[in-house]
Amino acid sequence: MISDNQEIEKFNPREIEPSSDREIESLVRPKEFEDFSGQEKVVENLKVFVKAAKMRGESLDHTLLFGPPGLGKTTLANIISNEMGVDMKVTSGPILDKPGDLAGLLTSLESGDVLFIDEIHRLPKIVEEYLYSAMEDFRIDIMIDKGPGARSVQITLNPFTLVGATTRSGLLSAPLRARFGINCHLEYYNTDTLKKIVKRSAKILDIDIDDQAAKEIACRSRGTPRIANSLLRRVRDFAQVKGNGDVDLEITRYSLDALNIDKRGLDQMDNKILSTIISKFKGGPVGLTTIATAVGEDAGTIEEVYEPFLIQEGFIRRTPRGREVTELSYKHLGISPYRDLSLF
Ligand code: ADP
Repeated sequence: MISDNQEIEKFNPREIEPSSDREIESLVRPKEFEDFSGQEKVVENLKVFVKAAKMRGESLDHTLLFGPPGLGKTTLANIISNEMGVDMKVTSGPILDKPGDLAGLLTSLESGDVLFIDEIHRLPKIVEEYLYSAMEDFRIDIMIDKGPGARSVQITLNPFTLVGATTRSGLLSAPLRARFGINCHLEYYNTDTLKKIVKRSAKILDIDIDDQAAKEIACRSRGTPRIANSLLRRVRDFAQVKGNGDVDLEITRYSLDALNIDKRGLDQMDNKILSTIISKFKGGPVGLTTIATAVGEDAGTIEEVYEPFLIQEGFIRRTPRGREVTELSYKHLGISPYRDLSLF
């Protein structure tokens, strides 16, 4: 039941542990392959590679994980290090702005450890080049002293596994890409898998959620586990304050509507892309760069981050002459395909 005037004085968020979204995120993050739902092919392959490396007593080959944000790249890196029984050091491309930063990290790795570099496509060129010999021969050169006495000394590193994550594989240079022995492409999740993820997170967080509510959250999560988990947390807030704490379909719809979450899970940019193709280009076909200019977003980001979901869900199709919206897009935006948009 949803009531606006429920007594909320008794509700003290501090009494609920863990309190912050970040803590909750680390609680629900799968730690083993068995808890990781979906991406079956990627997981099956990784299991084989991890097992083989362990049998040979070697470090796992360098692994590149690519796919849009929130699909489980960091989670998989964690799982790899757990399953290999090694430690993981975490950094990200834009943080490493000089080779010295990377050298410090590399020399601190124990044999077999995982170095996770998020947003690896944003590594400065000079740091990226420094990484090559480390990845290939487990060796780096470091400069000792300054001025005329400066000299370079070669250091041998412990064998390690670099796990790189990127949302924009198109921006990765060919030499860097070639140094990864394992490449995994993560796809958007379907509703059934997301529903499973929502139910698993609800169980961990002790949230009473019914099947329909879990499905509703799954449908509106843009194929993305991170969004599904975050919507679950927000719906729980509404259920606690406006209902009796249990999450059913009614309170879920009420909460997601209050949060302005799109019925099909599309975000603002998704909707902007669709409405732009319809209103400015009569529904298409229109070229990618033209769409990008019209919506003020980078063409590569549209191609690698937004478009795959819109195509998967049937809102857009690719034709030899460019992108075209489908009838579903008109229906979703409540626009008639037969209306002459030039009159508006
Ligand atoms: P990325 O690094 O790709 O941006 P993360 O690995 O940080 O994404 O995942 C975001 C959140 O989604 C994690 O906290 C994790 O709990 C959840 N998650 C991602 N993939 C899965 C999965 N396959 N099964 C269960 N939960 C997942």
